[in-house]
Amino acid sequence: MAEIKIQVKGYKCERCGHEWIPRKKEYPILCPKCKSAYWDKPKKKRN
Ligand SMILES: [Zn+2]
Repeated sequence: MAEIKIQVKGYKCERCGHEWIPRKKEYPILCPKCKSAYWDKPKKKRN
């Protein structure tokens, strides 16, 4: 049996960098670590 790497779909918080695998199928509302509702929104760059 060969070893393989299975990649699982997960999410990464743009705020704290936390990565997690959701248990529910629904799109996560908050980052489970920093509780930010903007975890999927990268910080805006200043122009
Ligand atoms: Zn976070």
